[in-house]
Amino acid sequence: GGEKRAENGGGGVEMPEIRYTKLFINGSFVDAVSGKTFETRDPRTGDAIASIAEGDKEDVDLAVRAAREAFDHGKWPRMSGSERGKIMTKYADLLEQHAEELTKLESLDAGKLVVVTRAVDIGASVGTLRYFAGAADKIHGETLKMSRQFQGHTLREPMGVAGLIIPWNFPSIMFFTKVAPALAAGCTMVVKPAEQTPLSALYVAHLAKQAGVPDGVINVVTGFGPTAGAAIASHMDVDMVSFTGSTAVGRLVMEASARSNLKPVSLELGGKSPLIIFDDADVDMAVDLAIGANFFNKGEACVAASRVYLQEGIYDRFEKKLADSLKNWVVGDPFDPRVNQGPQVDKAQYERVLSYIEHGKREGATVLTGGKPCGQKGYYIDPTVFTDVKDDMIIAKEEIFGPVMCLMKFRTVEEVIAKANDTRYGLAAGVVTKDIDVANRMTRSIRAGVVWVNCYFAMDADCPFGGRKMSGYGKDASMHALDKFLAVKSVVTPVYDSPW
Ligand code: NAD
Repeated sequence: GGEKRAENGGGGVEMPEIRYTKLFINGSFVDAVSGKTFETRDPRTGDAIASIAEGDKEDVDLAVRAAREAFDHGKWPRMSGSERGKIMTKYADLLEQHAEELTKLESLDAGKLVVVTRAVDIGASVGTLRYFAGAADKIHGETLKMSRQFQGHTLREPMGVAGLIIPWNFPSIMFFTKVAPALAAGCTMVVKPAEQTPLSALYVAHLAKQAGVPDGVINVVTGFGPTAGAAIASHMDVDMVSFTGSTAVGRLVMEASARSNLKPVSLELGGKSPLIIFDDADVDMAVDLAIGANFFNKGEACVAASRVYLQEGIYDRFEKKLADSLKNWVVGDPFDPRVNQGPQVDKAQYERVLSYIEHGKREGATVLTGGKPCGQKGYYIDPTVFTDVKDDMIIAKEEIFGPVMCLMKFRTVEEVIAKANDTRYGLAAGVVTKDIDVANRMTRSIRAGVVWVNCYFAMDADCPFGGRKMSGYGKDASMHALDKFLAVKSVVTPVYDSPW
């Protein structure tokens, strides 16, 4: 059986010092107006790591006021794009210099593998800042011929004060995915990190100041969703919101916009993404992709491929190889480099995932591996694979957001296209085949924001990211993300005695 290390606790690794626990408003760390705090917990043990200022409506008001002032009268939107880009590049350099400490903070707060946090989370954060630093001086309008009597041009102006509400599964990447394009556009902002993982956002806020981002441009209000988050979504002086999180809360954010000032909202929400494996696939590669697509980041990934569809001819070989591979899968302390999977982020998520697993058993699916918690303390769950999954089972329809994979069979291309699209979601999909005609047909037929062929999870700062249907709309990453933070204004002037 797999080696389990859930009891290891700290594993002898030196833990980071927690220096930033207060709200970051107008360039200073301050207590919440109410004086209240909440605890962020170590998912390896459930023990408190630190007390964090609990922001609420009054604090959001102060943060929005600071952001408004910085937008209306401050330097940031009035700098040249290249000056903004220079500061953002410095910010990226500082992030790189502090990568070790940030990696530990992030891994501790979110239960993420240290090796992955360093390479992926912090690496992608630096890359995203650099990408948008390079975009800051490439914001161009158009010239419009119009008629003989009029001509025009467009200006692309920063939207104003942006509200950025982010989840806990990739705290740093999410922070910079939202903050970097907003900075490049010349916006000012109020960021609301998830209550489960406030540490990295506060830490990187202090680096922004060091890099030379003026006070009031980036404000961070830690706190809970229904209070601090809702106050941002319904604020009359927030000009737009970019949200990543659950579909249920995305709906609340849109409602709050509709009831307040109709601010534009972009939503990156949940998914139930299919990974489709055809008979001709290399079975080793397919197994590796399925494991990564489901158990990477303990399944806490919006693009997790929790529906794995296997063509009949490969099913048995795949199932056997998958079960064999998972024997070497190690669940345990994320600070231990030999570990493959850390703990779920908190008690609520842990219990939610376990309840889905129980649902799966009750509905008659077969447990191939896992199916239970792991270790004596903390929020560890064995990587779980269900076979004999039927399309209408809850585990095949709802987002689980944990290490749970469902295997299903199909015969034909037509059949699997229908199954893949038979979901309210449309975030991502994977296709594994050597047949280019099948691959092309699949990529054009699946309604999702991204389709990976013979790979999964491959992303980059220049690759648009975001879903369709109830997975939301609006893109993160790429120049499409920059567009969200820019308003297009048409300017028209008369032309007299034009020859044309
Ligand atoms: P969540 O929606 O509860 O929380 C996300 C953020 O929204 C947090 O900062 C939270 O405090 C805030 N929030 C909660 N209630 C709010 C409200 N009423 N008004 C404003 N803000 C509020 O999500 P979660 O369950 O913590 O995170 C997991 C979900 O996020 C999953 O469903 C996952 O698919 C989704 N997710 C999506 C993406 C993506 O890019 N599409 C990325 C990561 C996570």
